[in-house]
Amino acid sequence: MKKVSVQCRHVRLSYGPTEVLKDVNIEIEPGEFFALLGPSGSGKSTLLRLIAGFNKHQSGELLIDGVDVSAKAPWQRNVGMVFQSYALWPHLSVWDNVAFGLVERKVDKATRRQKVGAALELVGLSAFAERRPNQLSGGQQQRVALARTIVIEPQVLLLDEPLSNLDKTLRVQMRQELLAMQRRLGLTTIFVTHDQEEAMTTADRMAVLDKGVVQQIGAPATLYDYPVNAFVANFVGTMNLLPGRVRARSGSSVTLDVDGIGDLRFPLVGDVPDGEHLTVSFRPHSLRVEVADAARDARYVWMPGTVDASEFLGEFTRYRVRVGTRQLAVDQAHYAGLSKFPVGGAVSLGLEPSQVRLLAA
Ligand code: ADP
Repeated sequence: MKKVSVQCRHVRLSYGPTEVLKDVNIEIEPGEFFALLGPSGSGKSTLLRLIAGFNKHQSGELLIDGVDVSAKAPWQRNVGMVFQSYALWPHLSVWDNVAFGLVERKVDKATRRQKVGAALELVGLSAFAERRPNQLSGGQQQRVALARTIVIEPQVLLLDEPLSNLDKTLRVQMRQELLAMQRRLGLTTIFVTHDQEEAMTTADRMAVLDKGVVQQIGAPATLYDYPVNAFVANFVGTMNLLPGRVRARSGSSVTLDVDGIGDLRFPLVGDVPDGEHLTVSFRPHSLRVEVADAARDARYVWMPGTVDASEFLGEFTRYRVRVGTRQLAVDQAHYAGLSKFPVGGAVSLGLEPSQVRLLAA
């Protein structure tokens, strides 16, 4: 099967006076598993429905396999969409649900039998062909919805929050299944989610949206390690964000007067924006926590602090540590026998400088 690309170029869409998608530019590679991630109301579903052909943009181009499909109806686009609700026919068997699109397309009976059989096998439901949707679990219904879409052999698969109706355990299992299936088919897949874990664990690349604006596009680890702004930083994980004023810049470091903490010097890592005001950002596990009088490794930027609170989460303990007038999240990897720092106790925090990102304020 031919793998196709999907490109949105300067796409704008408004509902009346409300601009919901603002100059969206996304290039999705052939065969890619691409996530649209963002909070509720950020425009993810609107964009997905636009690619499907259910929404119409007022300006810009939408290209599938290099061809502008803006003027084409949904059924002329060779895309398959799985809805959040699954939208299965309750009165039809699993087999007939999956066969539905082929019957509509007047595919002959022998081909139908072969294609429906293959689609059901792909999603592991061959043994359930005679059941009705209400005799299936949520995960199985989800697979029927997938099989029904895949059977018509779309060039692009669109998934709208495909796992949100499932409980946590099933969601984790199904996202692995979904990914494995996508890899087998090599089908360009775009899926919408508000769950950063879901996007990070499955997507080759993702776009983070906020208020109809694409904030950043990249591989999950790139967005996690090199977020371009505080919104992305916080949306893909926990981030300490400290506003500061630049005191001095050299070729290799920046010294900042950090609000509530004072002067700290950081080496330059990645792109450092210009300007007098910057935000110092680092993840909770980029800090080491030590007893206050411990010998200090000179490779770290050290800050004295007081433990405000701690939460034991199994893999790690998250401390809330007061430094100056700020509170920082600090994660310490856990192992049996490791004693906790007491609340109210004095500690030293060692910040790994290579993990610090300086963002535009
Ligand atoms: P998301 O999928 O990220 O939750 P949506 O794409 O559903 O966001 O919605 C984006 C914005 O567009 C929201 O503010 C929503 O209220 C608005 N919106 C969505 N559909 C319509 C519509 N048919 N008419 C007017 N406003 C809409």
